[in-house]
Amino acid sequence: MIIILKLRPTAGQIAAVEARVRELGYEPHKIVGEIRTVIACVGDETENGDLMSIKSMDEVEQVMPIQKKHKLVSRDAHPDPVHVPVGDLRIGEGSFHVIAGPCSVESREQILAAAHGVKKHGATMLRGGAFKPRTSPYDFQGLGKEGLDLLAEAKAETGLPIVTEIVSETHLDMICEVADVLQVGARNALNYSLLTTIAQSGKPILLKRGLSATVKEWLLAAEYIVSKGNHNVILCERGIRTYETATRNTLDLNAVAVAKLETSLPVIVDPSHGTGRSDLLLPMSRAAAAVGADGIIIEIHPEPEVALSDSAQQITPDEFGVLMEGLKPFIEAAGKQLVTA
Ligand code: PEP
Ligand code: MN
Repeated sequence: MIIILKLRPTAGQIAAVEARVRELGYEPHKIVGEIRTVIACVGDETENGDLMSIKSMDEVEQVMPIQKKHKLVSRDAHPDPVHVPVGDLRIGEGSFHVIAGPCSVESREQILAAAHGVKKHGATMLRGGAFKPRTSPYDFQGLGKEGLDLLAEAKAETGLPIVTEIVSETHLDMICEVADVLQVGARNALNYSLLTTIAQSGKPILLKRGLSATVKEWLLAAEYIVSKGNHNVILCERGIRTYETATRNTLDLNAVAVAKLETSLPVIVDPSHGTGRSDLLLPMSRAAAAVGADGIIIEIHPEPEVALSDSAQQITPDEFGVLMEGLKPFIEAAGKQLVTA
């Protein structure tokens, strides 16, 4: 942290600020200019007092952080790419994974048809919500425990690892029995108590970006998980809320590029929620590969027209097969290896 003092401070004023810096547990290093004096503070900000509090001193003009708040997930701290292990798979730099499956688990027939269909066309993981965070309390809320049992059955039949959403700490044990990856959805992406609790399970976490979260908030949400000792975080851009109405959300591919630069964590894209439109899934999946994403998560339903949630954005397994063929050259052009089941 750097402290900039007000113009032409007296020796007494400089000493007062230095004393406060020491009180907070840091070593002050002053640089005295003719007009300006700055004090650099050296020390561990995770263990010592909050230097920002110095801003309230009369002698101080500005306090400027030089280290990123999301230090554990930043590339500065961890230059080598993180590869998140999911069973035998390694998600991260160099490879491209496709996670596919229905928005919600609805029935045995539905989830098994989806699971076999996505596996046939190369998905390496099966997604499906058992607990659904719906905007309206009157909409289908998911099958809950029964949905988890059906996911377990789909996993036993296909061998595909399971990605499923957790909406409450109270479901953690039950979900951990079935899930290989815990999904934190956009509505809970800044629920710090949930993030902290599930981090301690040690399970890989697919962290969606909040509906209106900045990239900084998204990375700090990941920092909550990593700071609890769980480095297995997969970031997922799923679109943000903007004034645009042509699509359900605005898929922010800038954020993917920023996240890839700022962190070493794998970053994937959700074109289904990002667009809300089945006819945009191929172009935006291609765009995701082109921008450097390490994979996509996409909603597939054997009969999208009767889906109990997110009907307009789901495609059939056969349409998914066509999408995969259309996506492959883009993954190759991005220099990544498509991993298939
Ligand atoms: C989902 O994946 O079905 C979901 C609810 O996603 P999001 O949290 O991105 O809205
Ligand atoms: Mn959905």
